[in-house]
Amino acid sequence: MKKENVIALPNPHLRQKSVRVHVVTDETRALIEDLTSAALDWEASRPHEISAAIAAVQVDHLERVVIVRSDFDHKDNTDFTALINPEIIKYEGEIVDDYEGCLSVKEVYGKVPRYSKIRVKALDTNGDEVRIKAEGFLARVLQHEIDHTNGIVFIDHIKDNTKAFYRLDENGELEPVDYDTKIKDNPILWY
Ligand SMILES: [Zn+2]
Repeated sequence: MKKENVIALPNPHLRQKSVRVHVVTDETRALIEDLTSAALDWEASRPHEISAAIAAVQVDHLERVVIVRSDFDHKDNTDFTALINPEIIKYEGEIVDDYEGCLSVKEVYGKVPRYSKIRVKALDTNGDEVRIKAEGFLARVLQHEIDHTNGIVFIDHIKDNTKAFYRLDENGELEPVDYDTKIKDNPILWY
């Protein structure tokens, strides 16, 4: 798949719950390949960002499948880990605010509160159960992706916070966006 297959707000599918995968099949694995190629194609068009992860709903396929980058720090490592039916089974640590963006929320970034540590249960590409203890950026990414499987977009966590919205300038630096004129009543973001 290509970056053009990635859907973005205001597509209402992004706020629908995805369905569980009952049996992991070759079709599931083909979907994972599609997600990987779409994420990497998107990244190739963005000088300042990496595709940290993507959920199947973002290519308009409403099954609970996500892929997460195996190495966030090295763009040349293009491996992803696939998680099928991922769910958070424990929240730990503290709530931390940090920046997030999303392939499906064009031009808007936000400072989103997330738990610093979580435990996740999922199936791998063989259909076997895996458990992950995550902290820091990985914990944040997993919360963002699992939200996608539940029809939640990151901006939904910060919609009332006038100081939480940002945009990327041409040098790849985040700068605040005016909430009243650009965010509050923006029909692309809220419907
Ligand atoms: Zn996202």
